[in-house]
Amino acid sequence: MDHPYSGGCACGAIRYSCAAEPAFSWNCHCRDCQRASGTAFCAVLYVPRAALSIAGQATYYEVRAESGRRVSRGFCPTCGSPLFIQADLVPDLQGLWAASLDQPARFEPQVDVWASRRQPWDAMTPTLPKIAEAPTDEEFHALLAQAMQRR
Ligand SMILES: [Zn+2]
Ligand SMILES: [Zn+2]
Repeated sequence: MDHPYSGGCACGAIRYSCAAEPAFSWNCHCRDCQRASGTAFCAVLYVPRAALSIAGQATYYEVRAESGRRVSRGFCPTCGSPLFIQADLVPDLQGLWAASLDQPARFEPQVDVWASRRQPWDAMTPTLPKIAEAPTDEEFHALLAQAMQRR
């Protein structure tokens, strides 16, 4: 890769840098992501935790996601920017909210998940595949393989 994925919150109290490519990237339209973002969906890339360095202290709020799995969301306690997602589904990975990147255009979503929870005012990206709820194990492994091939 040419340069790491770096980013941070609006006030600058929290900064991060990741030296690895994302394991997968998606737009999640579940109700929990809608509430946490205050808008239509969460655009997130998941990177290896071992390759991620974080400066500053995020506050984490844990919820039981609609999938039944535990999801912990990290945000800046000063400015409120959402930054991180830690999900039981992928314990070795950490989610980074795409718009927290210094270069958000580097985000390349692979799929829309929880598409069945889409709000009527959320047009979704027409060219992306849709998964109605959480991906099955098979669908999830296909996403990991697809992301690997992009590198
Ligand atoms: Zn902040
Ligand atoms: Zn979600």
